[in-house]
Amino acid sequence: MSASRVQGIVERAEDLCRDLRLESVRRWKEQNGGLAIGFMPIWAPRELLRAQGCLPVGIMGGGEDVEIIKGDAFYQSYICHLPRSTIELALGGSLDVLDGMIFPAICDVIRNLSGIWKLRFPERLAYYFDSPQDFDPQIGGAFLRRELEEFSHALVQRGARPLETEALRESLAAYNANRARVQALYQLRRDEPWKVPTWELYLLQRAGLVAPVEEHDRMLDEYLAAIRADESRRPLDQARVVLTGSFCEQPPLGLIKTLERAGCYIVDDDFIQVGRWFKNPASLDGDPLDNLVNAFLRDSLESPTRYEEQGNKGEELVRRVADSRAEGVLFCTPSFCDPALLDQPMAVRAIEASGTPWTAFKYAENNGQFQVIREQAGTFADSIKLFSEALSP
Ligand code: SF4
Repeated sequence: MSASRVQGIVERAEDLCRDLRLESVRRWKEQNGGLAIGFMPIWAPRELLRAQGCLPVGIMGGGEDVEIIKGDAFYQSYICHLPRSTIELALGGSLDVLDGMIFPAICDVIRNLSGIWKLRFPERLAYYFDSPQDFDPQIGGAFLRRELEEFSHALVQRGARPLETEALRESLAAYNANRARVQALYQLRRDEPWKVPTWELYLLQRAGLVAPVEEHDRMLDEYLAAIRADESRRPLDQARVVLTGSFCEQPPLGLIKTLERAGCYIVDDDFIQVGRWFKNPASLDGDPLDNLVNAFLRDSLESPTRYEEQGNKGEELVRRVADSRAEGVLFCTPSFCDPALLDQPMAVRAIEASGTPWTAFKYAENNGQFQVIREQAGTFADSIKLFSEALSP
């Protein structure tokens, strides 16, 4: 009974994830009348959007379900896949339901995509959201606050309601509660990874990119209750690994399943980071806009798209390995992703210094063949298990 409940919830999440024409967003607009604003990975001020009556809609490219016909014409062959499929979706009308798009400042590709958007869809809001790389409240903080105020104003000009203090405070609380649920699931997977397969956790997170936050809360609560009651899931002799590098363009679902079937328990990852971006609840005291700014400055996850002092890159990855009691690291990165691949040597150096085994491979969101990765990940997992058994007293 519980197993079929789990299956039903995961299928609902997968339907939302594969709903490339955003029918659920269309329904939300019909019922609520607000603006739907898309955002590219990684971080966007969802709290502010919700406070102004907008639905934040995370766009993660077209994945494996979109055939690229026109999108290739916009990007060179040595650019990652995500912007091509996003353009393909937009030119095919799939994103017409969106009243605007946010392009966070994470890399040149996304910056260029924002320019293409402005040229191709001049009637829609295309906002290049320039988040700071200076984390001093007087400098980066003042900059981010002004950026948020300007963005809020741009939303009002498009028909959103003005930003009100209490609405933003309530929205911070709503996303705090949602992050707490996601973090609880991550913790449960760390503790009992056989209960929370990563491909299920991934789909639940994808659902949170399009569902209103309260609906996503209900889905997470139902899933948590169902898996706690499901006694059919038993531990297997798998290697515990941290997967890193997949923060923007997402791997195909089949790749995540392949890694798990190859003998890996993924006990931490960086998929869909927006759902966990703040490590702790944002403060609800005082001015909520300042609280949102401070959470971004002081409490964000480490990401290749955030500046770190020289020599610090990789430290958080080493901490995550220790916290999750992982036995190895999978560097699983999109092909041609500059932020991920330029960070990788520094992260590898930190991981090697900690004595943790690692392996690396690349993917594109539309890969359909996983045999080579299956063999590589399977050999990696086997060698971890063999060596840990050989070294244990
Ligand atoms: S996958 Fe990497 S290079 Fe491509 S848009 Fe994302 S961050 Fe930029």
